[in-house]
Amino acid sequence: MVTTITELTKLWEKALKKIQQKMNDDRSFDYFFSNSYIYEKNGSVLVVVAPHLVAKTVMEGKYASLIIDSLSEIDDDDYEIKVVTNEDLVQQRKDSRINSSIKVEEKVPSYFADAAIKSDLKFSNFVVGEFNSDAHKAALYVAKNGGTMFNPLFIYSHSGLGKTHLLHAIGNDIKENRMPGAKILYISAQEFVEEYIKFVTGEKESQSIKDFFKTVDILLLDDVQFLAGKVKSQEIFFSIYQDMINKGKRIIITSDRQPAELQGLEDRLVTRFSQGLTVKINEPDVDTCVEILKQKIVTSGLNIEKFDANVIYFLAEKYSNNLRELEGAFNALMFNCLNLLDEETITMDVAIKALSSIKGGKNIAAQLSEQKILNVVANYYNLTPEQLTGKDRSGQIVLARHISMYLIRQHLDVPLKKIGELFGGKDHTTVMSAITKVDKELKTDIQLQTAIKDLEKKIKE
Ligand code: ADP
Ligand code: MG
Repeated sequence: MVTTITELTKLWEKALKKIQQKMNDDRSFDYFFSNSYIYEKNGSVLVVVAPHLVAKTVMEGKYASLIIDSLSEIDDDDYEIKVVTNEDLVQQRKDSRINSSIKVEEKVPSYFADAAIKSDLKFSNFVVGEFNSDAHKAALYVAKNGGTMFNPLFIYSHSGLGKTHLLHAIGNDIKENRMPGAKILYISAQEFVEEYIKFVTGEKESQSIKDFFKTVDILLLDDVQFLAGKVKSQEIFFSIYQDMINKGKRIIITSDRQPAELQGLEDRLVTRFSQGLTVKINEPDVDTCVEILKQKIVTSGLNIEKFDANVIYFLAEKYSNNLRELEGAFNALMFNCLNLLDEETITMDVAIKALSSIKGGKNIAAQLSEQKILNVVANYYNLTPEQLTGKDRSGQIVLARHISMYLIRQHLDVPLKKIGELFGGKDHTTVMSAITKVDKELKTDIQLQTAIKDLEKKIKE
């Protein structure tokens, strides 16, 4: 008997092929049947969602027997059909919320009571760059397409680079666009282990959690590395996994390393994880991090024009190895700017002040101050900050570089060794001699005196 949404979807795909053959009119078929899908099965009643109201009318009327005949050619069960539109479903959901006090008795106990797909993690707010384009492409593919291609999809990366975001995006996309009635389960491997320990003490309970997974159509399993070393949990997970894959149900897994490196995991699991498609998320590039911050500013309802681009760029560069930390630093900055300083415009100075008051933020504030000096000097001499910290030894650049070192030392009290690191790993004696040189020339060189005076004024602006 066909029961799960995955099976029902397959049944409907087969029926559609038959209906198309029998109609022998592709234009009408497309108009009435393409984008139709099965919502659920209630007893013997199949609830079919029609693409629009006209389609609903003809599917219930003129084509009803054609549909039922086609279904009976595929499956021995006797089906009745009920046709609805997406609008009907929306209304039905509203009504059921009103009637939700009437409890429906469930045959299969429900595990993972708190599991939920987060509606704010979507493809539409997932910024794509070169570093994550493979994972994004694969995730979109499995969200948009049925079938068993790329099953399981295995996504791995270091922490904070978008794996969890992609899992939820897949779940949301399938729910909204392809299989609204599907039961999609998002859980972390840690939750799986905890649930296993809490509920499963014998054969009976093992069967019960397996039965529960039989009702799941799509599994989004986060951070599978947590299964390492948990022998019993792995055993039961293996059985659940095999059952789902054999039934053609989609599984998407994330991990902090690739399958072959998952130590403490049974070989049979590792081999199976590699059987679909494995994709990696690499380290983000700074430009994509800038895009992510800009998107965050806009979606937070803030005005992007109030942000000095240097502040955004600085944070993006500083945290490009972890997007979670990037967001964390940005949130902390916002909290301090909006609540403590009550500033209108987020200039570099405002950001420096705000970052200094964040726990552990002093170092970042100091780096931002260095960056500010570099920006001021670079601007003054028509160079880029990268030229100042780089290796080019042409006359004008070397002078500007020495002046930057001098100003950083004077204004920020940064150790010589640190200044050396900022300037591409220079030795502290090299820094010292550059600063001494500027100091000495300042005594006689009037042009240099004017430049330093102008620069100091700009730094304080
Ligand atoms: P992981 O699961 O790999 O540790 P997350 O998915 O939790 O990482 O991502 C960390 C944070 O960064 C989340 O708030 C997420 O929404 C955000 N994020 C990650 N990648 C992107 C992206 N490409 N575009 C926008 N936000 C992202
Ligand atoms: Mg995660």
